[in-house]
Amino acid sequence: MAQFGRALRSGRRGRGFESRRFDCVEESLKTLCVQAFFVLGIIDRTGGEQVTEQEKFMKEAIRQAKKAEALDEVPIGCVIVYEGKIIARGYNRRNTDKNTLSHAELNAIRKASRKLGDWRLEGCTMYVTLEPCQMCSGALVQSRIDEVVIGCMNAKAGCAGSVMNLLQVEGFNHQVKITQGVLEEECSTMLSDFFKRLREKKKQEKAARKLEQERLEAKE
Ligand SMILES: [Zn+2]
Repeated sequence: MAQFGRALRSGRRGRGFESRRFDCVEESLKTLCVQAFFVLGIIDRTGGEQVTEQEKFMKEAIRQAKKAEALDEVPIGCVIVYEGKIIARGYNRRNTDKNTLSHAELNAIRKASRKLGDWRLEGCTMYVTLEPCQMCSGALVQSRIDEVVIGCMNAKAGCAGSVMNLLQVEGFNHQVKITQGVLEEECSTMLSDFFKRLREKKKQEKAARKLEQERLEAKE
């Protein structure tokens, strides 16, 4: 677009009426290009900044994480993409389902397999807000998924490079491509804000319990 604009500008030098006409054409073309970019999703309508394909899918994973947060679960979400389209979504429901297996990744893997009618997720990419744990990394290798795109890393429990890298063990029959740091700050802030609020809540609950205890003791 910039080159096009330059070409138009160089062609209109020193011409009054022609120059105005070129200005009009240039403006119309710019508007058309911007509209086309909106349609293609290259420009984010909200901020006007460029959004990559990876960021677009990570934003959807973040939306899934917010669903977990609404249930007072640790906000972790993911999507699985096949041939450029989201075929499955998942979010952490461990407490809600009272199930160790109810991690975002496993919930999405189950849905993707149902959708594709195959346990193999070859040709698929997972976008996940937090580095997968050992259980989910194991399942991802088992699913033969092509790639995992990670928002932020998990130094204490991540198994895609932090504690260990289960996704790329040479001895296994499948290795998963890893991409890190897509919308990293957004993913990491979402988690730290959640834990901050949780600590505050626990502190308030503790204070309320202490107050109640004191009230009961005063009665006795
Ligand atoms: Zn997990």
